[in-house]
Amino acid sequence: MILANARLPEGGFADLEIAGGLIAALHAPGSADPAGERIDLAGALVLPALVDGHIHLDKTHWGAPRLPHVEGRGVRERIAAERVERHRVALPIEARAAALIRALIANGTTRARSHVDIDNDVGLANLEAVLRVRDAFRDWIDIQLVAFPQSGVTTEKGAPDLIAAALSAGADLVGGLDPAGFDGDVKGQLDIVFGLAERFGKGIDIHLHDSGKTGAAELRDIAERTIAAGMQGRVAVSHAFALGSIVPDVFAETADTLARAEVAIMTSCPPSAPVPPVGRLRARGVTLFAGSDNIRDCWSPYGNGDMLDRAAIIAERHAMFTDRELEHAFALATSEADKALGGPRRGLRAGAVADLVVVAAASVADAVIDRPPRSLVLRAGRIAAENSVAAAALQEVAIA
Ligand SMILES: [Zn+2]
Repeated sequence: MILANARLPEGGFADLEIAGGLIAALHAPGSADPAGERIDLAGALVLPALVDGHIHLDKTHWGAPRLPHVEGRGVRERIAAERVERHRVALPIEARAAALIRALIANGTTRARSHVDIDNDVGLANLEAVLRVRDAFRDWIDIQLVAFPQSGVTTEKGAPDLIAAALSAGADLVGGLDPAGFDGDVKGQLDIVFGLAERFGKGIDIHLHDSGKTGAAELRDIAERTIAAGMQGRVAVSHAFALGSIVPDVFAETADTLARAEVAIMTSCPPSAPVPPVGRLRARGVTLFAGSDNIRDCWSPYGNGDMLDRAAIIAERHAMFTDRELEHAFALATSEADKALGGPRRGLRAGAVADLVVVAAASVADAVIDRPPRSLVLRAGRIAAENSVAAAALQEVAIA
């Protein structure tokens, strides 16, 4: 396949030759061998496909009728609401997760990390459902699954055994939740999380809403344990709201520790909390990546699974106005997210996997500001979506 007259993110134009699922070569416009399928992009911008670094495929109500949001702030109140609400959702997890995956792909996302609830209420049922969906869509999207102890680690009896069972069943990472704020036992929870990660040879991604000095101390603890375990580059902390609410010297010390340990920070940039300052963390060498987090579920009625939208939300919140800053916001949902997730980096170069998204935009900065429809999405060189609609093949995916 030739994608002719493609505008490149770094500027200039090329004919992209796609073969064997890869970008085989970049030719000067008009010089590619015309044999095979040829799609004329007429100057549209070709970008690496997007990455959603944090979703909850088991929680989403996508595809089901909206349930009015139950009042109540804070992690505990939301968990209580969810325990009631999950029995009211009209569709099974498989149908909702599949519907959301089609939406992600239609928006140009071909790699994602989903946390999946593991607790005594649901056992491994949510994970088993999401594993079936992941398997069904394997050819279209790479999905990492985090065994997420939504009801706590030390305060939920049997949680460590459930997480171990989840890892044996196919989960890729060990999750965690507010060691101080939820379990009230930082050492206890982190001993278990890091112990399971070492035992199973898996990475870690911890939900950390704990704010201020407490949260910052937990971040440094996580970073130090990461170095001690030799897990640099395989640990992430999601939210890390503390980074948005600490004084400058504590911030500098914490950020430097995270950078040294190569602990990545995921931000969804919610309006309801202080958030990690993207530019200041980047300046200190911390890897940041972006995720949607809750999409139309008990935790949030918002979200659309569009990572160009997420990049724009992050850029606007942090007053990222220059083209360089907008390119950085875009990188949080592409190259930096690939790095954080430990996957091969996609890009517009010969030999890279042909996971690509095409938009009518003059530059990366324009794409973030305009969030144009995705005119074409390729997954390993196959057409996965056109005009922001998932291809027929994705509608027909059967879940075992
Ligand atoms: Zn989350």
